[in-house]
Amino acid sequence: LSSHHGWKRVLLKLSGEAFAGGEALGIDPAVVRHIAEAIAEVVREGVQVAVVCGGGNMFRGVQMSAQGMDRARSDYMGMLGTVINCLALQDFLENKLGVDTRVQTAITMGQVAEPYIPRRAIRHLEKGRVVIFGAGLGQPFFSTDTAAAQRALEINADAVLKGTQVDGVYDSDPKKNPDAFRFDRLEYGEVLQRGLKVMDATAISLCMDNGLPIVVFDLMGQGNIVRAVRGEKIGTLVSP
Ligand code: UDP
Repeated sequence: LSSHHGWKRVLLKLSGEAFAGGEALGIDPAVVRHIAEAIAEVVREGVQVAVVCGGGNMFRGVQMSAQGMDRARSDYMGMLGTVINCLALQDFLENKLGVDTRVQTAITMGQVAEPYIPRRAIRHLEKGRVVIFGAGLGQPFFSTDTAAAQRALEINADAVLKGTQVDGVYDSDPKKNPDAFRFDRLEYGEVLQRGLKVMDATAISLCMDNGLPIVVFDLMGQGNIVRAVRGEKIGTLVSP
């Protein structure tokens, strides 16, 4: 549990759905503001923050392939969607809050972002810049959760903080079952065995194999991002 304190470098995973606020699609500026302000606060405290943006508010590959579209192509569309979220967050951090940022994408698009270069990303972080990773892993059949785990490992982050719409991990869906039980702590094996909805199995096993802690928390709760980054007790901690 000691690893749950004093994190110096974190990987914040932002679910795409959160960006849409109450809507099904698009970007709610109030959400971007909320996230950006919290990131600015912890960066000023000296924590190095890298971000992986999801894209569920734009496009999910699986949904379109269910309607007959080629899965890989629809996944590429999904990856492109995540970049739109990255640019929205970058804009708010830089133009409204004066926080230096760099967007790095797993699919090269030189006009809008740097390519993903891990050592350069680390250098940015050391200089206090927020590095925002877009386009997931650049590979179809993966998720941005898996990208978050992989990027966290490659840049040597202390933890993956998964900001989402729920305030932790439950034994059943809290929206359907009023008696759903919320876990404070879990081990990776338990997550996989019980099929708990933390991250997909690829992401979980990557974290498990490398002892990378995951915190699942409600992204929109007041002060939550700051608490998660500071390593305060919040949501559900998945760790060895
Ligand atoms: N995606 C992909 N490879 C990756 C990351 C994402 O193919 O490495 C695609 C996939 O189609 C996914 C979409 O991008 O549905 C959006 O990402 P995700 O569903 O992970 O976003 P979130 O659930 O965080 O909103």
